[in-house]
Amino acid sequence: MKTRKLLMIPGPTPVARSIQDQMGRETVAFGDPAFVKDFKELLEDLKSLLCCSGEVFVVAGTGTMGMEMAIANTTKKGDNILIVSHGFFGDRFIDLCRKKGLNADVISSEWGETVPVEKIREKLREKKYSAITVTHVDTSTGVCAPVADIGRMMKEFPETIYIVDGVCATAGEPENVDAMGIDILFTGSQKAFGVSPGLTMLWASRKAMERRKSLGDIPEFYIDFEKWLPIMKDTGKYFATPAVNLVWALKESVRIIKEEGMENRYERHRKTAAAMQEALEAIGFKILAKEGCRAVTLSNLIYPEGIDDAKFRGLLAEEGIMVAGGLAAYAGKMFRLGHMGNIDKHDMVSVIAAIERALYRAGMPVQLGKGVGIVQQHLMK
Ligand SMILES: *Cc1c(COP(=O)(O)O)cnc(C)c1O
Repeated sequence: MKTRKLLMIPGPTPVARSIQDQMGRETVAFGDPAFVKDFKELLEDLKSLLCCSGEVFVVAGTGTMGMEMAIANTTKKGDNILIVSHGFFGDRFIDLCRKKGLNADVISSEWGETVPVEKIREKLREKKYSAITVTHVDTSTGVCAPVADIGRMMKEFPETIYIVDGVCATAGEPENVDAMGIDILFTGSQKAFGVSPGLTMLWASRKAMERRKSLGDIPEFYIDFEKWLPIMKDTGKYFATPAVNLVWALKESVRIIKEEGMENRYERHRKTAAAMQEALEAIGFKILAKEGCRAVTLSNLIYPEGIDDAKFRGLLAEEGIMVAGGLAAYAGKMFRLGHMGNIDKHDMVSVIAAIERALYRAGMPVQLGKGVGIVQQHLMK
């Protein structure tokens, strides 16, 4: 008999049965009154869950489209933009911004660390920046940026739009658009919301909406806020066909989140990460992100001496767990394990058990049950 495969990469994450069921519903017209109502309620819920008194956009696309939408609606060719990068996804903004004709300055950290807030402040004092980008959790390093602290500091720079990439964070790491002074936050459906890939969700503050207005006509079509705003205000209107079944799936994800409570969900992610990270360290892995800036949504695990990446991930797949490889300089040296969204106790125990079996089969002297025991202890706290 084949072993079931658990999808533990940092997105897509496991999709709960009830969310899958929404994907399987008979598709209706986007103008169907029941759908129009569902879409409208979804938008209201998304605003209140992330505490955003501005606007929210739900558009068919991916996290990368969210990045592009954020930049395109708040900056124009020739503007200065500051990119704070903690890895591969932070760096993705560099190319994106340069292609849009922006003057992009970059401050980066070593992989596994964060750029100190003071350094960002110094940089912002040097010249006028239209916007700054910060990746809340960089999926390549497992580092979590201090978005609240940066938001507090950003009050000194009211002319700069604060853009936060929440793709590997939103609905897992605590976020509050209004209180943290975030101007644009965005994510994709397939990460901590636990929906299949295909939707971009983006929250924009009033200040961001004013910036968009001040830009006048922009050289964009599909990703222009002004094209979508009328639809977000009146979900019965048409600009481009909404992904009907994905919208329903996201609505079910939001129902699950409301039932759990956002604060409880953040707390569960924190506890899950603490259990998984302690267990993984105990069985021989090193966590790339330094203590104090570790994400709760995923772990980036450096192999013990003598483990071959391809072989290990092959064995782990046979044991029923899909994980992702390391990126850039960490390719072959590390694997990435997602533990965000709608994963539960069964998943946590099974994942650590399968990792122990894969290590054992790879010839490491691992004590079977050691990591599982730690997870069990955490679950009983
Ligand atoms: C996954 C990810 C992206 C890219 O999202 P796609 O849906 O693959 O386009 C961007 N930023 C971060 C932090 C991510 O984790």
